[in-house]
Amino acid sequence: MYIGFDLGGTKMLAYLFDQDMNVIASQKLKTGSDRGPGLVAERIIDLTRTILADTNVNERSILGMGIAVPGVIDFDEGVVKQAPNLGMVEFPLARILRQELPFPIYLDNDVNAGTWGEYRRGAGRGYRHVLGVFPGTGIGGGLILDGKLYRGAGGAAGEIGHMIIQPGGTICGCGQEGCLEALASRKAMSKDALGMVAAGVLPAGFEDYGTDLAAYTSSFFLKAETAGIPEIQAITERAARYLGMGIANLVNLLNPECVIIGGGLVEKLGESYRSAVERSMRAHAMAYPGNAAAVVAASLGDDAVPVGAAMLASDSG
Ligand SMILES: [Zn+2]
Repeated sequence: MYIGFDLGGTKMLAYLFDQDMNVIASQKLKTGSDRGPGLVAERIIDLTRTILADTNVNERSILGMGIAVPGVIDFDEGVVKQAPNLGMVEFPLARILRQELPFPIYLDNDVNAGTWGEYRRGAGRGYRHVLGVFPGTGIGGGLILDGKLYRGAGGAAGEIGHMIIQPGGTICGCGQEGCLEALASRKAMSKDALGMVAAGVLPAGFEDYGTDLAAYTSSFFLKAETAGIPEIQAITERAARYLGMGIANLVNLLNPECVIIGGGLVEKLGESYRSAVERSMRAHAMAYPGNAAAVVAASLGDDAVPVGAAMLASDSG
């Protein structure tokens, strides 16, 4: 059996899988990252022991555990090099966990884990060269080249959200201007939509969404799409166009067989969004490899990350 762990900034999720990677059980706990990395490590151990106790599984039955972390990870050493949402810098998480848990433990970046999950068990099955693109608050990327996860020299490969698409464009959280995620992430779309509401140009049912950015979720964009609100549809189309442009650059660089796009926007907006991204990618990439790359929606949803983390443990063991 395997454990796949999705370690987020606010909550952690543990999944127990059988040999065939079917989910046996899942549990969650608050991460408590505001109280320091040591406490986060303790909670990972607690949650792991709880899920095993509740399912009557002996820890000796666990062949490996994979932990997906939102940050830059040294996969070989099991060190969290940088994870701002967890307050971790050069934190030897795997070593600490191994002192308490008797099975092999692997850490990887969460987007790498999600891409690996889709590659092994989801929309990327059957391909060898896969690019995973996950637009959300930011835009994460995962690279599978020749059947292997490509992590780069220091574990930071795949930061596609900070590819500069528009010189002098919207300022990004990273300090640069015109990054892909400042133009095409769900957060960028939310800011634009909030501006429309504040300007009072939207019809009834949309005018009272207010000034809390958190209200402008993927569901908001689905509602606007269904209701046919042209101002909001234009925001979605522009974001999809920029995302396709960013993917076109990567397709020219990497010649993948398959581009998987995932996350809440893709799940909510579905085919209209996926096809808009694909059209833009093909319009901006070279004819070959642009026309040769399939653009598919992720199929595992929220399970991609824990499944991928567990698969990384099983594939690395
Ligand atoms: Zn940036």
